Amino acid sequence: MTTETVATAEMLIGGRRVAANDGQTFDTYNPATGEVIARVPEAGPEDVDRAVGAARQAFDGGKWPAFSAAKRGRILLKAAALIRARLEELAELETRNGGKTITDSRGEVLGTAASFEYYAGAATRIMGETIPVSAPGLDLTLREPVGVCAQIIPWNFPIVMAGWKLAPALAAGCTVVLKPAEQTPLTALKLGEILSEAGLPDGVVNIVTGPGETTGSALINHPLIDKIAITGSTEVGKIVMHAAAEGIKRVSLELGGKSPNIVFDDVDIESVVDQSVYSVFANAGQDCCARTRFFVHERIADEFTAALAERTRRLRVGDPRDEQSEIGAIISPEQQANIERYLDIGQKEGAELLVGGTRPGDTSLASGNFLLPAVFAGVRNDMRIAREEIFGPVVGVLTFRDEEEAISLANATQYGLSGSIWTRDIGRAIRLMRRVRAGVLSVNSNSSVHVEAPFGGFKMSGIGRELGTRALDLYTEVKNVYIAVD
Ligand code: NAD
Repeated sequence: MTTETVATAEMLIGGRRVAANDGQTFDTYNPATGEVIARVPEAGPEDVDRAVGAARQAFDGGKWPAFSAAKRGRILLKAAALIRARLEELAELETRNGGKTITDSRGEVLGTAASFEYYAGAATRIMGETIPVSAPGLDLTLREPVGVCAQIIPWNFPIVMAGWKLAPALAAGCTVVLKPAEQTPLTALKLGEILSEAGLPDGVVNIVTGPGETTGSALINHPLIDKIAITGSTEVGKIVMHAAAEGIKRVSLELGGKSPNIVFDDVDIESVVDQSVYSVFANAGQDCCARTRFFVHERIADEFTAALAERTRRLRVGDPRDEQSEIGAIISPEQQANIERYLDIGQKEGAELLVGGTRPGDTSLASGNFLLPAVFAGVRNDMRIAREEIFGPVVGVLTFRDEEEAISLANATQYGLSGSIWTRDIGRAIRLMRRVRAGVLSVNSNSSVHVEAPFGGFKMSGIGRELGTRALDLYTEVKNVYIAVD
């Protein structure tokens, strides 16, 4: 086992890199080895207050919202170029702190650069309307930045989530206090450095680190915040909505999921299995869009399930730094224990565990949080493993008789984030596409995310749409202006 160097991280407040006011720190770990890799400032209420104050000043008195959209765009483009130039460094840090494979981390870093590039261009396309009102004169709308934003992100895609949040807010002219998840603060802090280097004025982006219950809570309840955007669990989403209600703050929520993967009997089974394993096991299943409920037509269910179990057994769980590894580590021992609890629950509920669900035998992985991906057969929709978000490498196979039953089973959930429909029948694909209640669907694909297209959930999976031009709606207010004409 290698010994990691323990670094000391600093927050970004008002353009300065700082420790917490009271000197408090917490440790952050490498999930693949269990080792501490950095001591990170634990922001208290005074630090949050300083960060919000800096963002407020940069918004109210500062130049950022007054910069031309083109100038804001140029700074975002510079940030994107710096991210691309530091691809390997950022990917290695993401892998060390998040436990994900180096291949996935590279994809994430490139996705972050793509967000900054997209919103660099989008900044000059935030446009109002002219409206033919009945009164004489001219009526038009302006789209103005919403103000100071609190942005809170989870640990499962740390740097790309920071990019999804920061880039549209900055393009719109907002200023930000961002809080990364306490498990994975390091790449967001690096992104803060990159933004400063790209020419972002002091105070426009501030990054505070610490636990949700203290640092996060101080941030969402701060009276000078205009808008809260969070990606996280549905439980925390509810807390955020309550806090937003108190101050009538604008709020957008990207929350949990329990997404369906609906497979009809006219598909090429091997090909669908081959792609579908990644829809649920990528990032060790710690993905809000994971298709954790596989609904398979009863005619092909046995063959599909056997092929899925076999393909799952062949997935390579290993050292995330190894280019050959397909699945890395679970974020923490607590999360691993939580997943293992669900594996127990599933078996007690009567589902049949066909493969995986145990820790790998490879002794070089013993000190990290690793789990072999698991497939349950004989799952019913009323079982807890089919209803609750496990957020780990666990999938359940259920069967259906016909289209109508597939739709009703897929929709029988409190969530509505994503889903896949596999069929060669275009008419059927269109009928299901219209009736499955989720914000992000894919047909004959496991892909959920495109920076140019809207992303977000129905029902308890969230409110609002990130990415694409829709994200700009989250960060702008509409102002109507009527100009009288004599
Ligand atoms: P979490 O809800 O525990 O934490 C998310 C963030 O909220 C963290 O930064 C945390 O510190 C902060 N937080 C926690 N309590 C808070 C409070 N009281 N006040 C303010 N902030 C608080 O979620 P997690 O375990 O980090 O991430 C996993 C969850 O995120 C899953 O449910 C997953 O589905 C969801 N997720 C959703 C999306 C999406 O786009 N819909 C994407 C990724 C993850």
